[in-house]
Amino acid sequence: MITLALSKGRIFDETLPLLRAAGIEVPDDPEKTRKLILATNQPEVRVVLVRATDVPTYVQYGGADLGITGLDTLIEHGMEWGGAAGSTGLYQPLDLQIAKCRVSVAVREGYDYAAAVRQGARLRVATKYVAIAREFFAAKGVHVDLIKLYGSMELAPLTGLADAIVDLVSTGNTLKANHLVEVERIMDISSRLVVNQAALKLKREPMRKIIDAFGKALGQP
Ligand code: AMP
Repeated sequence: MITLALSKGRIFDETLPLLRAAGIEVPDDPEKTRKLILATNQPEVRVVLVRATDVPTYVQYGGADLGITGLDTLIEHGMEWGGAAGSTGLYQPLDLQIAKCRVSVAVREGYDYAAAVRQGARLRVATKYVAIAREFFAAKGVHVDLIKLYGSMELAPLTGLADAIVDLVSTGNTLKANHLVEVERIMDISSRLVVNQAALKLKREPMRKIIDAFGKALGQP
């Protein structure tokens, strides 16, 4: 049995065409069913629905053989910026080019971020992406106090909780609606296929079949 960990919503929806290219159909709609394990048309392949941030954990510890999640989530889980496994042991064979966005620094309209950085001010930065923010500001030589949040980051600069946020930005509409402006782009994000290395050895053939079909659907040789 091959188990693929996916999260509901955008990643699931954008993964369906890739699964189809690999000959895998998922009959259940994850938004409608309460099931967490979804069978596919292939008796040897199943999908488990987990939170995006739990995907690397499932794959690392063998609860799933393969998983799909954003590069942001993988880095927060301990994978290195360049994609090396780091201490996670996760092998990342493919950039699936889906759920694209970026991680950026944003501040309240009218806040002079450049001046604050120039003057060496200690910035308070609220974010869910603590590892990414820590590494980015350390490389820039900017002193920051990081405040971990789990959601609604946009509120932090508006309420005085923080000077800046580090968050995912796609169209920029959420920032705009909250009178925030993007002042630095930290990194581009897309979803990645991650693989449990032990599973790849033990179930090499069926796993390679899926990985190769995804690669082919993405136009990779
Ligand atoms: P936008 O208004 O299009 O810039 O989208 C920003 C909001 O959507 C932020 O609150 C993000 O957390 C979320 N978001 C945007 N892109 C993604 C993505 N690829 N994966 C997860 N969340 C995202």
